[in-house]
Amino acid sequence: MQDSFKREINYLRISVTDLCNLRCRYCMPEDGVEKFSHDRILSVEEIAEITSVCAELGVNKVRLTGGEPLVRKGIFDICREISKIPGIKELCITTNGLLLKQTASELKAAGVDRLNISIDTLKNQKYKELTRCKFSERPVDEIFEGIEAAKTAGFQNIKLNAVLIGGTNDDEINDFVALTEMEDYQIRFIELMPIGEAMNWEKSCFIPNETVLSKDSRLTKIGESGVATLYQVPGYKGCIGLISPVNHHFCSHCNRLRLTADGKLKACLHSRFETPVRGLHGEELKAAIAKQIAEKPENYDLGYDNPSSTLRNMNQIGG
Ligand code: SAM
Ligand code: SF4
Repeated sequence: MQDSFKREINYLRISVTDLCNLRCRYCMPEDGVEKFSHDRILSVEEIAEITSVCAELGVNKVRLTGGEPLVRKGIFDICREISKIPGIKELCITTNGLLLKQTASELKAAGVDRLNISIDTLKNQKYKELTRCKFSERPVDEIFEGIEAAKTAGFQNIKLNAVLIGGTNDDEINDFVALTEMEDYQIRFIELMPIGEAMNWEKSCFIPNETVLSKDSRLTKIGESGVATLYQVPGYKGCIGLISPVNHHFCSHCNRLRLTADGKLKACLHSRFETPVRGLHGEELKAAIAKQIAEKPENYDLGYDNPSSTLRNMNQIGG
C-alpha cells in the first residue's frame, strides 16, 4: 500500500520485547526496563495476526528486533509463524549476536532468511564498557563464534551494524574495514541518532559518516542497498555500508512501519504518534493499519538541534 506521498510501505519492523541482555549506553538505562507481566506484550498469535494483515496491505519484508529478540520466549514460534504468512518474502533479525551460537540453527530452521548483528567495537574491554555487559569477559569473541555458527547454519550475506560514536569507536574504522578483506561481510556504519538515552549526549559523539571515507581513501562507491550507500576497497570480498539518518535523511524513500512489543504501530521512528492495534481483528485491524500508513508523516528533520520527538527509548522501538 502507498502512503499519501506515494511511498510503497512494504517493510514491517517488529520489536518482540523491550528486554535485553545488554545495556548499551546510547540505547538503554543502566537499570534496564521494568519487566512487564507476560500479558503486557503481544503474544505469538497476536504478532502473527497483525503481520498477516500488514502482508495483505503489501508488507513483504519483516524484521524482528527489540530489545534483544533472542531473549524473547517463543522467538522460534514467532519466526515460524511469520515465515509461513503468504506474501512475506523475507524475514530478518537484528540481534546483538551474543545468543547466536546456541540459536543460529534453530532460527534458520524456523524460517529466518538473514541476520544483522550489532557490534560497535572489536575490542572486548571497550565492548563491555559500552554495553555494560557483565556476563562475559570476551563478548566480542563470543559474537564472532555466533557468526561462525550462523554461517554453518546456512546464513549468508550477514550484515554487521556499528553505530559510529565520536571518541568511542571512530579509532576502529580501519579495523572494521580490514575485516572486509577476507570475509564477505557488509559492515554498516550507522550515525548515532539523538533519540532516547543518546538525546542529551555531547555534540562530539555525533560524527558524520563521511568520517569513514576520510579514514580510508581506497573506499570506492559501488552502489546503494536500501538506506545504505555501499563502498568497497577494490579487491576486498566484503563491503562497507554507510547509513546516515542524521546527515542524509532518507525519509523520501522510507518504506517502514514499526510495531512495538506492547502493540502500538508507529509510522515514523521519530514521531511521538502511535496507534494501538492490540485487540483489533479482521477489517477493524486492517482499517487501523491502513490509516497509519495513509497518515505516515512526510519527513522528520532529525539533527543534533532537533532530536527525536518519540517518548520511547530505542530498546522500546527496535531501531
Ligand atoms: N538488540 C538488538 C541489537 O542491538 O541489534 C536489536 C535492537 S537495537 C535497538 C537495534 C539497533 O539500533 C542496533 O543496531 C543499535 O545499535 C541501534 N541503535 C540503538 N540506539 C541507537 C541510536 N541512538 N542511534 C543509532 N542507532 C541506535
Ligand atoms: Fe540491547 Fe540492542 Fe539496545 Fe544494545 S542496542 S541495549 S543490545 S537493544
